[in-house]
Amino acid sequence: MIRVKELKVKICSSEKKSIDVVKACFNRIKKVEPKIKAFLKLNEENSLKQAEKIDNLNIKKGLLEGIPIGIKDNIMVKGESMTSASKYLYNYISPYDATVIEKLKSAGAIFIGRTNMDEFAMGGSTETSAYQKTANPWNVEFIPGGSSGGSAAAVSAGMVPFALGSDTGGSIRQPASFCGIVGYKPSYGLISRYGACALASSFDQIGTLSKTVIDSALLTSVIAGKDYRDPVCQPNDWIDYTYDLDSSSVCALRTIKLGIPKQFRDYKTDFEIAKYFNDAVNKLELECSQIIEIDVPAYKYVPALYKVIMCAEVSANIATFDGIRYGYRSPNGKDLNDEYAKSRTESLGDEVKKRILFGTYVLEAKNYHKYYNKAQKVRTLLINQLTDAYKKCDFIFTPATLQMPVRFGNVLPEECDIFLIAANLAGLPGITVPCSFTSSGMPMGVHFMGPRFSDQKLFKMASAFEKISNFNIDKYPIL
Ligand code: GLN
Repeated sequence: MIRVKELKVKICSSEKKSIDVVKACFNRIKKVEPKIKAFLKLNEENSLKQAEKIDNLNIKKGLLEGIPIGIKDNIMVKGESMTSASKYLYNYISPYDATVIEKLKSAGAIFIGRTNMDEFAMGGSTETSAYQKTANPWNVEFIPGGSSGGSAAAVSAGMVPFALGSDTGGSIRQPASFCGIVGYKPSYGLISRYGACALASSFDQIGTLSKTVIDSALLTSVIAGKDYRDPVCQPNDWIDYTYDLDSSSVCALRTIKLGIPKQFRDYKTDFEIAKYFNDAVNKLELECSQIIEIDVPAYKYVPALYKVIMCAEVSANIATFDGIRYGYRSPNGKDLNDEYAKSRTESLGDEVKKRILFGTYVLEAKNYHKYYNKAQKVRTLLINQLTDAYKKCDFIFTPATLQMPVRFGNVLPEECDIFLIAANLAGLPGITVPCSFTSSGMPMGVHFMGPRFSDQKLFKMASAFEKISNFNIDKYPIL
């Protein structure tokens, strides 16, 4: 599979046909999907028809004309099903396009299929999907991470060149790192959330998963930008995020200052992750980047903060799933309240129920100040400490996760993703870039997190790192 950037040039100049690219995707899918199970739905017939139409165009002016993409199953495509991997939405047909889908349609992208995920994006392994478990392409006995595990596995296994995911607490960047690809979560407000199934609205962002940084930047150039339908979306002018991500960008490392939180030492980190992260630091120093230690004491509150605020927002957002308006309706309800209760009891998974219960608890009048309000105050403390840290460095640099992916059924420690989750709590952009393969043959990644709306600079940093890392992006898992 060649990169999107090259595909785009070749398809636009008619050197390559979109239909051949789409066929190649489906050939690969037919070969490896039975082992990986990354997709909940595939659109072979429509994709081929669309590719044929694009090949017949004289002028191909869309930024992604004829290029296949995978879409996480919590983003609406008009007239198509969207399950969010929940039994509750088993029969739901999207009444409109999400803004990112509108933009992708006008750019000429081809929607190959809907990728699997944790139910309503709650989880970090894709195991809470009501429909199937997705495997990690580097070792099918291991989790791909989550919640965007289907998108990560599909890209990593070469079934699609790139995919969309959503990231509320690391859900793009953690699976991307577990599967050896690039995962990017934008600054809060850079990409419209309109038409994405809400999890925790003050954290949620749609973002990208791809083999290379430049492909994520290209996709971001298409989907970012103002949208009056998402009130938090910023009215920025159009930006070409791929600008200047060329070979000369390694020079940019010379002027970069990276901050490593001293709190990193407080956590148990996988031995090889620590070792390869150290190697990455040494490589950056060789390129004359300055590495400093920063102090962000509020990191220790990240897991608790995230849990309280996320669950509170979940309980409010999921309240619309009552079995009356749309989705699963229990045939066993005796009256209205019983109908609500049974529809939810029979269709929602344990993880979702647990979060609704906890979220409702922290929002109860007697608990609100003790938990929710306090968490919001500590969130501000974290934001202030990170703002101070950025006075001393350009980016915060950490391993993507503190542990490697586990076998199905095993649970990762709660602090595994804390450096990713901090970005959601503070609305900051973060990108994970593959760094090394460990002795188990599984990939690991590093994470760069920048100040709010430093996304363009962040892509430059990640692209420069990609060039000096030893990770072979042309290597695909043998399946
Ligand atoms: N692991 C996080 C959670 O379960 C990820 C959520 C997300 O980013 N969608 O809440």
